[in-house]
Amino acid sequence: MSNVEKSLKEITEKYAKDSGRLMDILIDVQSEFGCISKEAVSVIASELKISEVDVIQTRSFYHFFTEKPVGKYAVYINNSVTSGFFGMKDVVDEFEKQSGVKFGETTSDGLITLKYTACIGMSDQEPAALINSVVFTNLNRDKVRKLIAEMREGKNVQDMVTEYGDGNNTHPLVKSMVKNNIRKAGKVCLGEYTAGAGMNKAFSMSPADVINQVKDSNLRGRGGAGFPTGLKWMYCSNESGEKFVLCNADEGEPGTFKDRVLLTERAQQMFEGMAIAGYAIGSNKGIIYLRSEYLYLKKYLENVLDEMRKNNLLGNNILSKGFDFDIRIQLGAGAYVCGEESALIESSEGKRGEPRNRPPFPVQKGYKNKPSIINNVETFCSATKIIENGAEWYKSMGTNESAGTKLLSISGDCNNPGVYEVEWGLTIKEMLDMVGATDVQAVQVAGPSGTCISPSQFDKKIAMEDLPTGGSMIVIGKNRDLLKDVVHNFMEFFEDESCGSCVTCRSFNMILTRQIEKVIEGRAIKSDIKNMQDWSAIVTKTSRCGLGQTSANPVRTTIQNFRELYESKTKDAEYHSDFDMDKAILESCEAVGREPKLHE
Ligand code: SF4
Repeated sequence: MSNVEKSLKEITEKYAKDSGRLMDILIDVQSEFGCISKEAVSVIASELKISEVDVIQTRSFYHFFTEKPVGKYAVYINNSVTSGFFGMKDVVDEFEKQSGVKFGETTSDGLITLKYTACIGMSDQEPAALINSVVFTNLNRDKVRKLIAEMREGKNVQDMVTEYGDGNNTHPLVKSMVKNNIRKAGKVCLGEYTAGAGMNKAFSMSPADVINQVKDSNLRGRGGAGFPTGLKWMYCSNESGEKFVLCNADEGEPGTFKDRVLLTERAQQMFEGMAIAGYAIGSNKGIIYLRSEYLYLKKYLENVLDEMRKNNLLGNNILSKGFDFDIRIQLGAGAYVCGEESALIESSEGKRGEPRNRPPFPVQKGYKNKPSIINNVETFCSATKIIENGAEWYKSMGTNESAGTKLLSISGDCNNPGVYEVEWGLTIKEMLDMVGATDVQAVQVAGPSGTCISPSQFDKKIAMEDLPTGGSMIVIGKNRDLLKDVVHNFMEFFEDESCGSCVTCRSFNMILTRQIEKVIEGRAIKSDIKNMQDWSAIVTKTSRCGLGQTSANPVRTTIQNFRELYESKTKDAEYHSDFDMDKAILESCEAVGREPKLHE
């Protein structure tokens, strides 16, 4: 047996040869060998007793898995909108100049690979990149020159980080240059936190009372969809048998990064929320699905879990109340669609992150087809404080329909980008004053899948009943080319991230991207605007999951709110086609030697 085969077998044994842990196995293989080769696929398939196709289809789905080896240093630069705003072009140019290869290539000595990736959750400190999963922020030409020189010296990537960020970013298990940039702490998620207080209170109540408390608080899911959390917990509690609590820490919406800050500063509050949910619905097992881009926090999070176990806040007989609950961390490998709850479940089971058809809903058949609840990081942090302080305390903040506070990740053209915990009901104008933004052309509310609003709408309120958001807020200055710098970037993002199951999502996002290019390049005519609206409606109505249903929003909402921009770039002309269908049929029949049948 070769050494490679021996290592591969050891990796599969680490996960008890469980095909449900295929993601973890592939992550370990990619990390150890720099790729998941044909040989690796064959050994993994045979050890897990699954087909090679099963392994290949998972490998091919995720951005950070590769069949061919990446360089010793794998550079993934974030090509999001804010990265573009603040100098990505220069950084890309310098990486290419210094390494001698283009993005998408590896140096001939196998030292450096350059790749693009979607938003890595650092929109307040762009341009940013991952190098072998270590985060580098605020890049510029000088920093790139230094990084490439250090790669040539063979330096360890972690040692290239010389300055650390704030808060727990300096923790020995994190040691990251990432900054929290907490600009405003509210009372719920970033306010004072007493470890164990929420849990203690929950265990003094019945599970039904815990659910009622969350229901009464009007807490709604903070991932964006806004489904009432208490209701979700109640539906799951009504099911019987083994159940699971899943935490969605896969914030992939470009422009959002507030869950990264909560994971860094309020991890225990979030884990407590998961345990409280477990108690309420009757589950003993929790899984946190951590996006691969936040791998640098994994050891720290594992340490928080270990400390909680030592303090009897997790594990068996928690706080001597007879309740058992534990949590494992499931890493992703780069796929925006895995933020969709059923895709997240599929991925957690080791499969491609393709959304499931619904019903059945996850509360009925979720992880391993068992009843499961999925809430995001901010929702669990909020639930802990709601149980500690009561529903009325929570409802005293926010608006009638949107109770409590909301964490906003604010980036783009403003003086103070960062995380703000505000009460629902803040107007966009108040938000712009708060972050020091002037000369604003537009605000992208809720990321690419949200809505792009114009100054005439800045008196709208950030609230479920007016402007709902999962937290991403990108300020777009008047100096930006809205179509080229923003809409086109977003549409390319959706084109890349569609899982490909639905024809409309797979094709129309590509078509809409090409249409936007026509508009930008001055090749479009007025009827193209109408076509884009029609096609946007089709993809919205006919796509299976939230990704497709919202993917046309960058086009749809900018045509709606910035119509004059489209009008000014399109020609008032009729469409004339020189294409002759009969001639084309004759030519193709001739080419294949078939008798033409015209106008039957
Ligand atoms: Fe996949 Fe798009 Fe269909 Fe969602 S809408 S299932 S991402 S193809």
